Amino acid sequence: MQMEMMDHLSWVAYEERLRDPNAIVLLPVGALEQHGPHLPLGTDALLAAAVARTVAPGVNGIVAPTINYGYKSQPKCGGGQHFPGTTSLDGATLSALTCDIIAELGRHGVRNVAVVSGHYENQWFLVEGIDLARRRLGPASPMRIMRLEYWDFLAEATLKGVFPDGFPGFALEHAAVIETSMMLHYFPELVGMDKLPPDPLVDFPPYDMYPAHTHWVPSSGVLSSARGATAEKGRLMADDISTRIIAALRNEFMHG
Ligand code: ZN
Ligand code: MN
Repeated sequence: MQMEMMDHLSWVAYEERLRDPNAIVLLPVGALEQHGPHLPLGTDALLAAAVARTVAPGVNGIVAPTINYGYKSQPKCGGGQHFPGTTSLDGATLSALTCDIIAELGRHGVRNVAVVSGHYENQWFLVEGIDLARRRLGPASPMRIMRLEYWDFLAEATLKGVFPDGFPGFALEHAAVIETSMMLHYFPELVGMDKLPPDPLVDFPPYDMYPAHTHWVPSSGVLSSARGATAEKGRLMADDISTRIIAALRNEFMHG
């Protein structure tokens, strides 16, 4: 069996893997952010890495070490910065870190990179990091980069099955059914289903305030109900996500 974890490979084995021009390096990116009383602070990073590890064997992929910190938590999608443990990066730091890692991969001949994010707020800073890396590598670089948020690969039918009463949307799905079910599937020992908070009532106005109005955010840090989360739903979603990410990677990166 091929080793998937980059940090477990010797340089000799890594160099050997990169001789395959179809080799893909997956870079998981998460956050250290409150996820209610029932999920660990590392949820976004743990899930991004778990998805990357699930996908890797299907594309002969190599999983780079996870970026375990992310951009600042926003009240309407992550609860905000006021929760102890939500330990975040400035946008420029995340962009610079992403740029440095991708440019280093390119320097050693990696042609295909997939940035796998598990934290909503990271998006534009990852885009910036990718853009800066491409500028550093120059127009002659053969590197192609895919950026994705894993939850976007959930099929409509899967979401209907997981949310029979209607889907609240990905922004409010913080520490709720999707993440809790996925954690029950991948890391059951890290989930405290006995600590599930009461269902929150969130009704955010269509604007933001700085400093943040912390009273807009449920004190539990959970933005919609996590009731109904099960390991079985987690397995269904994880299968759906990994199958469809593998298809996208093969489609973009694996030719000939
Ligand atoms: Zn999360
Ligand atoms: Mn997050």
